[in-house]
Amino acid sequence: MSETMETRQFEAEVSQILKLMVHSMYSHQEVFLRELISNASDAIDKLRFEALSDGGIYEGQSDLHIEIEVDKEGRTITVRDTGIGMSRDEVADNIGTIARSGTRRFLEQMTGDQKEDSRLIGQFGVGFYSAFIVADKVELITRRAGEEEAVRWESAGEGEYSLGSADKEERGTEIVLHLRDDADEFLDLSRLEQIVRRYSDHISFPIFLIGEEQEEEQADQEGEEEARVPARRQVNEASALWTRSRNEIDDEEYKGFYKHVAHAFDEPLTWIHSKVEGLLKFTLLFYVPTEPPLELRLADQEVAGGVKLYVKRVYILDEAEMFLPRYLRFIRGVVDADDLPLNVSREMLQDNRVVRSIRKTATKRALEMLEELSEDGEKYATFWSAFGSILKEGVVEDRGRQQEVAGLLRFASTAGDGAAETTSLDDYLERQKEGQEAIYYVSADSYEAGLASPHLEIFEARDVEVLVLTDPIDEWVVSHLREYKDVPLRSVDRGALDLDELGSDDDGGDAEDGEEAEKTEEEDPRWAPLLESVKEALGDSVREVRMSNRLTDSPSCLVRQEWEMSERMRRLLKQSGQEVPAAKPTLELNPDHHLIRHLENLEGEELAEWATLFLEQARLSEGAVLEAPALFVRRLNRLMGQLVDGGGNGRTE
Ligand code: ADP
Ligand code: MG
Repeated sequence: MSETMETRQFEAEVSQILKLMVHSMYSHQEVFLRELISNASDAIDKLRFEALSDGGIYEGQSDLHIEIEVDKEGRTITVRDTGIGMSRDEVADNIGTIARSGTRRFLEQMTGDQKEDSRLIGQFGVGFYSAFIVADKVELITRRAGEEEAVRWESAGEGEYSLGSADKEERGTEIVLHLRDDADEFLDLSRLEQIVRRYSDHISFPIFLIGEEQEEEQADQEGEEEARVPARRQVNEASALWTRSRNEIDDEEYKGFYKHVAHAFDEPLTWIHSKVEGLLKFTLLFYVPTEPPLELRLADQEVAGGVKLYVKRVYILDEAEMFLPRYLRFIRGVVDADDLPLNVSREMLQDNRVVRSIRKTATKRALEMLEELSEDGEKYATFWSAFGSILKEGVVEDRGRQQEVAGLLRFASTAGDGAAETTSLDDYLERQKEGQEAIYYVSADSYEAGLASPHLEIFEARDVEVLVLTDPIDEWVVSHLREYKDVPLRSVDRGALDLDELGSDDDGGDAEDGEEAEKTEEEDPRWAPLLESVKEALGDSVREVRMSNRLTDSPSCLVRQEWEMSERMRRLLKQSGQEVPAAKPTLELNPDHHLIRHLENLEGEELAEWATLFLEQARLSEGAVLEAPALFVRRLNRLMGQLVDGGGNGRTE
C-alpha cells in the first residue's frame, strides 16, 4: 500500500447534490442504510449471476451475506458485503460521477428551487451518496471478484475524492461511515436493527448486525453498567420476499420490496403476488408504480420494461421484457421461474415455450390487477393519468385481449364535468339512450375544443353523450377498436348522421329542437340549386355539399366518410413528418342559419366568397390551419363590411 492516493474532483453536479442531500434529509436520515443495503444486495445478485457461467469467481467462498458493524468508540458504521465488488475503473465510473441512474434522473428533474429539490431528493433518493447524510467522511474499500487489486475510495463529500490501492482479502465491498456529530443515534444496535427490519427485511441474503452490546445480566451481577460483549446477530428474514406466502407478508414489506426491486422511491399503487403451480411452476410479484419513472415520462420507445427475472431464486436479468406485452411496460416486479435453466440467456428467452406460457398467465394476472384497481376510483384516476396512454396501446397490439383492455380505458366525456372526470366504456353504455346505435366520440386537441365542436350541437340537442378524445394516440386506438361489446364506435364527424330514432330529448327540449327533428327527415328539394352553386364555387376542395341535420347553431361543418382520416389525425401525422393525401370532406350547411338562408339571394362571385368563408370556418373549428389565413381575414372583413354597410350588391331582402 505504498502508492499514494490520487485526488480527483467530483463533477459539479455531484457536489451540488451532496450539499442538498445533507441539508434536506434531516427527517429521514435513516434512509442511508436502506440505500447501502440495497446496493450490497444488488452486488451479491450480480456475483451469483456471474458465477452461473464461471464458478471460479466464488474463490472458494460462497457464503453470501451483508454485515453492518458498529464501532462506538471510533464512531463508525461499516457496511460490508461479499458481492461482486468493483474494479478501479468501476469505482471511478459508478461512484463520483453522475452516470448512474438514480442521480441522473434526479438531476434531470431538479428545478433549482431549494425547497422543491429537497422534496424531489426524497422521491428519488440518490443511492450511494446518501451515505453523506450521516457521515462527514466515507471510505469505500472494494475488490472485484476474480481480480487481485483492491481499491480504496475516500471522500468528505466536499467537492473531491481520492482513489488508490488497498489491501483486501475478501472479495466484495466495505463502506465505512465516519458519523457526523448529530448522527449518534445510529451507533445504537437496536436502532439499526429497527431500520433494517423496517426497510430491508425482504432482502434475500442474511444481514448481520455486529457490535458490542450491553449485557444486562452481567451488568446486574457486577453492578457495572458499562459491561459490553461483542455480538453478531442476524436481523432479517433472508428469504426472498416473493417466495414467502402472501398472508405472511404485510403491506409495509410489500412496499419496501417495491422500492428495492424497482429502484423506486414512490409508493406502489397496487400489487399482485401470485404463485402458479400447474404444468409450469413460477411466481410473479407485480407492482403498479404511483409515479411514472422518468424513462416512461419521456415516452422513450426504448424502455423495455421493469420486470426482473429470477430462476429458482437466482437473479438472472433486469428488464425481462419478454414476460409482459409492451403496453404493460410500466409494471415493475419479479418473475421467478422454476422451469428455465439457470444459464439461460436473453437470446434464449426470446423464443421460448416456457416464456410464452408464463407471459400468457402474467399478462392475464396483470390485467386482473388493473381491473381490481379500477374499483377504487381515486387510485385508478392516478393510475390512468400516469400510465393510461401506455395501456391504450394494448387495444392495437393485443387483438386477443382487445376487449379486456378496452374495458380498462377511460375517456373524458360530455357527461362529465371537465377533462378530469373520465368514464369507462361500460359506464357509457349504461347511460346510452334507448335506440342509440353507437358509442360516439369527438376528437380534439383539448376538452374545451372538443365541446365547442359544431358536430356536437345535435348531440347536445338530443342529449346523447359523446366521448371527448384528446390524447394524440386516441384516434389510432379507436380506429382499431371498431366496437365495444358489439356496439360500434363512431366519430361524430363521420358519414350521414341519423339520430332521429332517438327523438328529441323528452325532458323538456325546446321548440327549436322539435322543429329540427321533423325538418331533417328528408332533404328539402328547395335547397338543390343552392347546394349545387356552392359546390360549383368550392370545386374540388369538397366532396359534396349538403344540408345538415347535425347543426343547430353553427352555419357549417365538415363531415368525412367512415374510412377517412380526421383533420386532427392528418395534422398529427404531418407534424411527425409523414405525408398525408389531400382531404376531400363533405361540407354541411345549416339550413336554419340565417346566414345560410341569406345565400339563396346571392350568386356569382359573391356567393363564392360566402361559400368559401363557410368552408374556412368549418375547417378552423376543426383546429385546421388555413393555408392562407390572411386571405380568410380579408374575406371576412370584406363580407362583414358589406353587412354593416347595410345592403351592398345582391342583397334583396
Ligand atoms: P444505483 O444503485 O441506483 O445504481 P447507487 O448510487 O446506489 O445507484 O450506486 C451506484 C453504483 O455503484 C451501483 O450501480 C453499482 O454499480 C455501484 N455500487 C454501489 N455500491 C456497491 C457495492 N456494495 N458493490 C458493488 N457495486 C456497488
Ligand atoms: Mg443503489
